[in-house]
Amino acid sequence: MDLKTKALTKSLWVFHMSTASCNNCDIEILDCLTPRHDVERFGIVLVGSIRHADVILATGIVNRNCRDIVKKMYEQAPKPCFVVAVGTCAAGRGIFHNSYIVNEAEPLDKIIPVHAYIPGCPPKPEAIIDGIVKLIDKVNKK
Ligand code: SF4
Repeated sequence: MDLKTKALTKSLWVFHMSTASCNNCDIEILDCLTPRHDVERFGIVLVGSIRHADVILATGIVNRNCRDIVKKMYEQAPKPCFVVAVGTCAAGRGIFHNSYIVNEAEPLDKIIPVHAYIPGCPPKPEAIIDGIVKLIDKVNKK
């Protein structure tokens, strides 16, 4: 593992990228930041710019309208940057699987690399935190 990757696992800066979601997954991510769940105890900080992101938390389906934007945003993130698909929609299009808006689109992991999947519709804050911590462990073991 290079020094840059080792350093970033000590304090992950996460960027929340919501594409076409119903917003429930987004609400659960925000819940992770509240004093009740307090993700900052793991060194996880939410950032407002993709240019500062170590991790992208992606929610929702990628539809025709946002496909190119998702790709462009990932290109703007400093590398290494890990992508976590939060919720069934980001992982595999979920309940929107047969929707007209996603017929011609690919799932998120065909557009940008995805390093972890957190299932659930929506996943609980505990599951999101567990997923991020497991990602850190996975990166540290490499
Ligand atoms: S996985 Fe469920 S809660 Fe999350 S965006 Fe999709 S429909 Fe909404």
